[in-house]
Amino acid sequence: MYPAAFEYQAPSTVEEAISLLEEHGDEAKLIAGGQSLIPLMKLRFATPQLLVDIGRIPDLDTMQQEDGGLHIGARVSHKTCERSKTSAGRFGIIADAAKVISDPIVRNRGTVVGSLVHADPQGDWGAVMLALRAEVVAQGPSGSRSIPIDEFFAGPFTTTLGGNEVVTEVRVPTPQPKSGGTYLKLERKVGDYATAAVAAQVDFDHGKVGQAGIALTGVGPGNVRATEAEAALRGAELTDDAIAEAGRLAAEAATPQDDVRGSATYKRNVVRVFTERGLREAAKRAQAA
Ligand SMILES: Cc1cc2nc3c(=O)[nH]c(=O)nc-3n(C[C@H](O)[C@H](O)[C@H](O)COP(=O)(O)OP(=O)(O)OC[C@H]3O[C@@H](n4cnc5c(N)ncnc54)[C@H](O)[C@@H]3O)c2cc1C
Repeated sequence: MYPAAFEYQAPSTVEEAISLLEEHGDEAKLIAGGQSLIPLMKLRFATPQLLVDIGRIPDLDTMQQEDGGLHIGARVSHKTCERSKTSAGRFGIIADAAKVISDPIVRNRGTVVGSLVHADPQGDWGAVMLALRAEVVAQGPSGSRSIPIDEFFAGPFTTTLGGNEVVTEVRVPTPQPKSGGTYLKLERKVGDYATAAVAAQVDFDHGKVGQAGIALTGVGPGNVRATEAEAALRGAELTDDAIAEAGRLAAEAATPQDDVRGSATYKRNVVRVFTERGLREAAKRAQAA
């Protein structure tokens, strides 16, 4: 099916984009890569009368480390994350996730920020950004604000972003020197959404875990932070027992449903195994950092 007719504007500044949103209210919708919005428009689940394309706004397409963090601009694609040198080392979890998102066409056009705003419970970036304790930077008519990722998601396909706000970037604090992470995703076939996936990021202080970030995809009404698994690891040595306990607690945090991708029991088991595996890989990367 074709989308319903719509008007199109491509502003050259964020301020212009915000003005268009203010002027047209609910009838306007921002578009970045279009990889979530266009399918919705084709199904007529979304029928915006005006598309505001942020694809020509300069400055939003950069991914760089500065001021103690990695700044991923609103136009940065999955492909850039997959290939950029900045997503190596301590930020290796970012390259891991980018590689397993859909296929090259979607990765070329789709953006990290668009994915976070779309807030699909099956989306991969939500778990990664929870594990990394990222912040979403939004600009609106009265200025800019930073939203901690834990406060950004309000439910399936819903965020706390205001209707007239444009996300300009997602900011990831630079992990401590001895840290590493990984993203493990089980998919039925290449390009599928996750049956279950686990993002794991740990840093070490004098041989013990400092901060741990563990978050899940595909096993709840949104991306889930495995809070108790994180707390159990903090200050502990990463022994086999500690890893097994974290895996058990992460599986407990999951609330999967039986569906075509597998039974709830199977998915919970995948979470346990991937948490254990992810923590071992994260520790290996941290030692090499
Ligand atoms: C076949 C297929 C397979 C896919 N598989 C996966 C997968 O395995 N894992 C996964 O995580 N995702 C998957 N996706 C989704 C994909 O990652 C999308 O690219 C992503 O969800 C949206 O990014 P986008 O730039 O295309 O956003 P768009 O589609 O342009 O926009 C999505 C939403 O975000 C809003 N928005 C966009 N940018 C901004 C901004 N700067 N400020 C405020 N609002 C904004 C839009 O108004 C819209 O509501 C898949 C998509 C397709 C079509």
